[in-house]
Amino acid sequence: MQRLARIRISGDRRALQERWNSLYPHNPMIAGAVEVKSATPDYQELKKMYSDFSTLHPVTWDESSEVVYEEKDLEQFEILTLWVTGRAGSGGNTFGTVYEEIRKCPACGTENLGRQAGPFVLDPSEVDDSDLAVTDFGERICSGRFCRVLQSIPDAACRPTVWKTNRVARTAMYQFDLTASVGPLASSFQLLHESLCEECGEYRNVGIDAPVFSELRQLRFPRSSYGQLPIALTQERFGGPRKFPLVVVSQSLYRRIRQEHISGFWFEPAHLIDP
Ligand SMILES: [Zn+2]
Repeated sequence: MQRLARIRISGDRRALQERWNSLYPHNPMIAGAVEVKSATPDYQELKKMYSDFSTLHPVTWDESSEVVYEEKDLEQFEILTLWVTGRAGSGGNTFGTVYEEIRKCPACGTENLGRQAGPFVLDPSEVDDSDLAVTDFGERICSGRFCRVLQSIPDAACRPTVWKTNRVARTAMYQFDLTASVGPLASSFQLLHESLCEECGEYRNVGIDAPVFSELRQLRFPRSSYGQLPIALTQERFGGPRKFPLVVVSQSLYRRIRQEHISGFWFEPAHLIDP
C-alpha cells in the first residue's frame, strides 16, 4: 500500500514550479498541481522547497492524500469491493419493455424497478468494450468471458441481453444476477442519509460519509454477516433517485478475475470485523 499525496501550490508559485520541473522532469508540476508518493524523498524535497520558497513568496500548500493498492497488496484481504467502471449506456425501459413498470416517487424522484419482463435491451454504440459494465439504472452487464468465471458459482446467473438493432457486429453481452448478500454494514461504518422522503419513505441520497479515496470509505461488515460467498451484493443501496447495491467478492474470486484478465472494474479492500 502506498499513500499518494495530491498537492496544489497556489499563489506566487512560478519560481517554485520551475525549480521542481527542472529537478523532476519525469513528474512535472502543472498549474501548481503534482502527485507525489508520500513515502519518497521526492515528497520530502517538495516540502523543503516549499518551506524555503514560502519565506520569499506568498504561496499556499493544499494537500489531499489517496491510498493506492497494488495487486500484491490486494491479495492480503479476505474480501474486496468490485467497482464496475465500464459503461453500458441507457438501461431500464429505454430501448424496450424490460420491466413491467418503473415506479417513480412524485415527491423525491426515487425510482424503483418492477418485475423484469424481458431481457435487457442495450444500444451497442453506448456499451464499452470491456468485460464488465453498468447501465445508468445500475444494471450489471458482462461478457461471455466473465460468465465463464461465474459459471461455478451457485448464487450467480447470466442471461443474454439483446441489442436494440439486430445489425450488430458485436459478441453477445449478458446480464448477471446475484442472489447472495452480505451485511448489513458494521454499525461503525459511516453512511450518509440525506433527506428522508415523507411520500415513499426512502432517503433522497445514500452515500458514504468519508473523504473520497480514504481508507474510511472501505466497506466494513460484521464477520457473522458474511457466508464465505465468492460474490455477494451489499444489503444497502447507494445513490440518488436510482440506488444500487455494491458488489463484494472473495479473495479467491479476486485472483480468478485477475488470472482471466477481466476488464472494466477496479478493486478496493473491504473488511470483516469482529464485534
Ligand atoms: Zn419519495
